[in-house]
Amino acid sequence: MKPVIALVGRPNVGKSTLFNRLTQTRDAIVADFAGLTRDRHYGNGRQGRHEFIVIDTGGFEPDAGSGIFKEMAKQTRQAVAEADVVIFVVDAREGVSAQDHDIANELRRLGKPCLLVANKAEGMRDTARLAEFYELGFGEVHGISAAHGQGIRSLVELALEPLALPEPEDEVDEEEGPSKPIKLAVAGRPNVGKSTLINTWLGEERLVAFDLPGTTRDAISVPFERNGQRFELIDTAGLRRKGKVFEAIEKFSVVKTLQAIESANVVLLLIDATQGVTDQDAHIAGYVLESGRAVVIAINKWDAVDSYQREQVQRQIETRLAFLKFASLHFISAIKRQGLGPLWQAIAQAHKSATRKMSTPVLTRLLQEAVQFQAPKKAGMFRPKMRYAHQGGMNPPVIVIHGNSLEHVTEAYKRFLEGRFRKEFDLVGTPLRIEFKTQH
Ligand code: GDP
Ligand code: GDP
Repeated sequence: MKPVIALVGRPNVGKSTLFNRLTQTRDAIVADFAGLTRDRHYGNGRQGRHEFIVIDTGGFEPDAGSGIFKEMAKQTRQAVAEADVVIFVVDAREGVSAQDHDIANELRRLGKPCLLVANKAEGMRDTARLAEFYELGFGEVHGISAAHGQGIRSLVELALEPLALPEPEDEVDEEEGPSKPIKLAVAGRPNVGKSTLINTWLGEERLVAFDLPGTTRDAISVPFERNGQRFELIDTAGLRRKGKVFEAIEKFSVVKTLQAIESANVVLLLIDATQGVTDQDAHIAGYVLESGRAVVIAINKWDAVDSYQREQVQRQIETRLAFLKFASLHFISAIKRQGLGPLWQAIAQAHKSATRKMSTPVLTRLLQEAVQFQAPKKAGMFRPKMRYAHQGGMNPPVIVIHGNSLEHVTEAYKRFLEGRFRKEFDLVGTPLRIEFKTQH
């Protein structure tokens, strides 16, 4: 599971700027999908070898009634509760304020590890200015500049160091072959039928479930086997084991959903046909896309909708979830046990696509054939020249194309290439990332 960092501080100290700085590597991917409203407060961060989830709490607004920060905003408290470490942001230029003290007291009460960070410290020689923040009682203050990107890397190192997380296992995993379980997360907003589906699955006799409480934090994972394929069900937002069955006993948590999605190989995205595709569904779908995980979409409660509603839901999927076009779509009833069989095939297929190995000679040949069929357009004086391609990663598959002037390749051409690669390698249910490396 990725560690979670919460940014806390009064308004205007630069939390959003820092958030953007920490999440920028992934933002570009999401920006491609206009029209998708996303919750800007949760993001995936990456700095060097560290990956983490970052929450921007948006800041404390003064309590209008009493005029003081007596109550930490509910949202902020929840973020702190969900976080492994808090970055407490103050303004290096303005110095310590009464609000900073209020926040400091509240954070102390909540008892999470905190790192005190003074933002807007670019060009500040006068470290005495920073020294005054010691009075907040969080030890050393770290000067950074979110706007100028100064001190960010060491900030992340400092924040994550105490958590002493093991190295990511992904790389080691790759060679292990087909006996490895497929990690599966069932994601969806409350009441779409996640627990019902999982209990139906685990109740089937052909499916051998065995208890093995997870050890990472409070996550639960259930290994089971189906048609000779091993699976591992990852605890998703709010799903908890109660005796023999799963129950949604917690309120929906974005962080838990994100973590489950991140640690899965395949995400089964569940949508409630009786409600249609809601904003929250679109948000979750956006996270799934951003994570790069393979995905299968299942529209649940198909038993409870009439033909008019069915048509409506289908249209909504086409418009609101257009960015998941690569995923296979299933109409199911968890309660009536309808349409569940094909889900397993789809999950296995998505996983196979996501972990497909593509050799450099084959990729290069396909690339050359594609260019012969249709060459990239000239941009001014430049004509992009594609030389060869190699695979840069799995789950999601990444194809790295090497050549010259590749920064001039259009989005449309990129999509054209993606289509060719998808077809050749029979990639269904996984995003495919294409990256360009230009030699100068
Ligand atoms: P938030 O309310 O805490 O999320 O703060 P914002 O990120 O919206 O930033 C508030 C203001 O501070 C904006 O005008 C930013 O441009 C500015 N700001 C943010 N980071 C820095 C920094 O590192 N240096 C300077 N000088 N200004 C910054
Ligand atoms: P969760 O919050 O996503 O785990 O959702 P639950 O599994 O608790 O289901 C929420 C409600 O939807 C319950 O009342 C279920 O009985 C109902 N439900 C789940 N699956 C189906 C289905 O396939 N058809 C119908 N009609 N209702 C369902």
